[in-house]
Amino acid sequence: MIKLATRVGTVSPSITLAIAAKAKAMKAQGIDVCSFSAGEPDFDTPQHIKEAAKLALDQGKTKYGPAAGEPKLREAIAKKLRDDNHLDYTPENVIVTNGGKQSLFNLMLALIDPGDEVIIPAPYWLSYPEMVKLATGTPVIVQTTEDTDYKITPEQLRQAITPKTKLFVLNSPSNPTGTVYTPAQIKALAEVIIDHDLWVVSDEIYEKILYDGAEHLSIGAVSPDIFKRTIISNGFAKSYSMTGWRVGYLAAPLELIKATNIIQSHSTSNVCTFAQYGAIAALEDSQDCVAQMLQAFTQRRQVILDKIRAIPKLSCPTPMGAFYVFIDISQTKMNSLDFCDALLDKQQVTAIPGKAFGADRCIRLSYATDLSSIEKGIDRIAKFVSSL
Ligand code: GLU
Repeated sequence: MIKLATRVGTVSPSITLAIAAKAKAMKAQGIDVCSFSAGEPDFDTPQHIKEAAKLALDQGKTKYGPAAGEPKLREAIAKKLRDDNHLDYTPENVIVTNGGKQSLFNLMLALIDPGDEVIIPAPYWLSYPEMVKLATGTPVIVQTTEDTDYKITPEQLRQAITPKTKLFVLNSPSNPTGTVYTPAQIKALAEVIIDHDLWVVSDEIYEKILYDGAEHLSIGAVSPDIFKRTIISNGFAKSYSMTGWRVGYLAAPLELIKATNIIQSHSTSNVCTFAQYGAIAALEDSQDCVAQMLQAFTQRRQVILDKIRAIPKLSCPTPMGAFYVFIDISQTKMNSLDFCDALLDKQQVTAIPGKAFGADRCIRLSYATDLSSIEKGIDRIAKFVSSL
């Protein structure tokens, strides 16, 4: 038996990626599987973005670039953050990373020392606690409930803070619940963070996917005091359907970006050079593609909510952002792993067990999939639940 590094034993593999890969493999074998697993838009990447990457390839953008990213892309991201989010960053405050995931991972490595505590509201995106552990920090999970729309309250945050607290992880719109903090709620959390002199990382990967007039306020825009304690993580995967491109970014005070750059220079070096040119086009060209995808998500959300709410024993809050429904299955008396296993076995439907997100009474369905699969898949879930 290989004696692996201790850190490996402290983390578990990503269930979202594992179940999504399983669904894809089943489809490849010709099995008629309905997949609600990965948060991966089914749309092709918009043509103009692909053309920009192809052109970059033809122009020989195939070599090493600066580890922190192509200067033109860092500039375009800084401009986007100023224009969209009212965050006063220069290109030097931005590092381009292999997806949003690496931006968060590098941040944890750059900021967290052994024993540092990182406050994470649950339900959470499953990689947050694992990243903290890999960086030898201690995740402090704060349970939220449907009563507060799965949002951490300022009181809960205050209570979780200890002298060891270093960082608070904020994710709005949220994966897996779809909850969106209102500007007033963001401001109230900012006050607590300032009072206790903490860092906050705001994962804004779903910022463009909002419904029913929900508003996204980037916490760093609340005041100069919170801005200097804020780190922004974002990427191109969800808004521009560029999941496989692996382009994300981190924006933060200069010292932190320099630290993540050192880490990146010894680990991955630059993000694929020609992929970065696709990302430049995504930011600089028309945003109609984002609006079109949002329109489709809006329609799918209505269909999936109507159909789920017609199933006895299942309930879910209305997601105000992202493309997930977070369904309470507790009335079925099953835990989330058993539910998802049996659902796949009996009806060939994949869903992600809430246990992975710190909420075993729930399951997550992604509706970033076409309408007919949604209709067929939810009918199968209804059949499954009625058979219990
Ligand atoms: N973030 C997406 C999800 O939650 C993609 C998979 C992953 O990176 O975890 O489904």
